[in-house]
Amino acid sequence: MTRKHRGMAREETGTAANGRARPVADGHGRTHLDAAGEQTDGARTQMSSENPAWGGRMRTTGGAGSTGGTAPAHQTTVRRMNLALLLKNLLADGPRSRARLAEDTGLTKATVSSLVAELGERRLVSEGGIDRGNIGRPGRMVQIDTSVVRCMGLEINVDYVVAVITDLTGRVRYRRRLSVPLRDLGPARGLGEVADFARSSVQESGCAPEQVETLHVSVPGLIDVEAGVLSYAPNLHWRQVDVVHSLLGRLQWHHARVSVDNDANLGAMAEYTTGRSAGTRNLLYLVGDAGVGAGLMVDGRIVRGRMGFAGEVGHMPVGRPEKLCGCGRRGCWESAVGLAAVVDGVPGTAHAPGDLGSRLDKVERLAAAGDPQTLAVLTEVGVWLGRGAALLANVLDPEVIILGGHFAALQRYLGPAVRTEMRERVVAEPQTVRVEFSEFGSEAPALGAAHAGIDLLVGDPTLVAAR
Ligand SMILES: [Zn+2]
Repeated sequence: MTRKHRGMAREETGTAANGRARPVADGHGRTHLDAAGEQTDGARTQMSSENPAWGGRMRTTGGAGSTGGTAPAHQTTVRRMNLALLLKNLLADGPRSRARLAEDTGLTKATVSSLVAELGERRLVSEGGIDRGNIGRPGRMVQIDTSVVRCMGLEINVDYVVAVITDLTGRVRYRRRLSVPLRDLGPARGLGEVADFARSSVQESGCAPEQVETLHVSVPGLIDVEAGVLSYAPNLHWRQVDVVHSLLGRLQWHHARVSVDNDANLGAMAEYTTGRSAGTRNLLYLVGDAGVGAGLMVDGRIVRGRMGFAGEVGHMPVGRPEKLCGCGRRGCWESAVGLAAVVDGVPGTAHAPGDLGSRLDKVERLAAAGDPQTLAVLTEVGVWLGRGAALLANVLDPEVIILGGHFAALQRYLGPAVRTEMRERVVAEPQTVRVEFSEFGSEAPALGAAHAGIDLLVGDPTLVAAR
């Protein structure tokens, strides 16, 4: 038991306060040092606070200062790593006394006490009841403080926005979805609406803006994560939008870490951190909405490609070659399996009022009633979905393919055709690639966005200012 926590050399899965397993991202094979810089086990040390699962490349916005003041740089780094180590241990294995934390991490009791005091000042941990375990004298339990720090995920989509606010354990404290015609509004007015939505969501959730330490924003498009800029979102028709600075300018949350990422990457993050297949290190998440995108996790890290644009699977030529896609080309996968293909294919829903989501409800009702035309459309969508998924399985060899967005909402009708196509077309033993449907529905990107914030803070607790 004790050995398991030393060095955090591999991914570990623990149970968060919401009762869900939550892999604690590390995976750098780094070890930890005590406060004096003395290495406490034999592994090689990497001085990196970069977040491993999410990728951690973001422009710094706002800031809480670092530990150490005038301390030499490497001591500051060591202390930051040890703060992260304690936080990861508490998240993975729950509250414990300082003595047991020292035992479990291999740090000295004095170091643990000092680190716990600092984490307490940053409102990341608090004291709980008495630990009467068998190590040392009974002592006060140290636990994750869930009362102050909040991580917010926002999803911007073609005609709606979603907000999710979690505490540090990943427990969802607030969720909200609102129809907003963002494509029609354009980026300037659209981001104004998004900022208003974020502000009122925080207010409704009962927390103060100052408690929101991270705001990760999901957009369905090509994102330069480092610059915080949306390069191109084909279905929104937005190009070159500085999402991070536009939102920060409107919100004035200068204490918060604000970042933008692609919706499928963040959906993959939600599945990896808190989904049914949490901790699966080679995972492909396919999100179906107005567009279709992929979030690819290889060996516990999101794959972004050379320019950060990896995962644009919606424009693979899979489907009927004559069908026009939102990108202007013909025969793209998303013109065969995207939400518009589903809604437009079912009689009576193509031009019905409401956003795509509410029209999807109508499709579901027709399918549940056994309407033959609707079922035929869904079967065809399932066939194309299965063919594209099989193609990706052959290229990428994931352990699991998770289908989210409207694919999950329609799983009863799409599932059989998807599984048949996978069985027939995956070259490796097809049963070795699991196909699952996401349980998060359209909330996955916003949820993953909140979890990306948690991983950022857990990777570097000094990002949170002392209070
Ligand atoms: Zn296309």
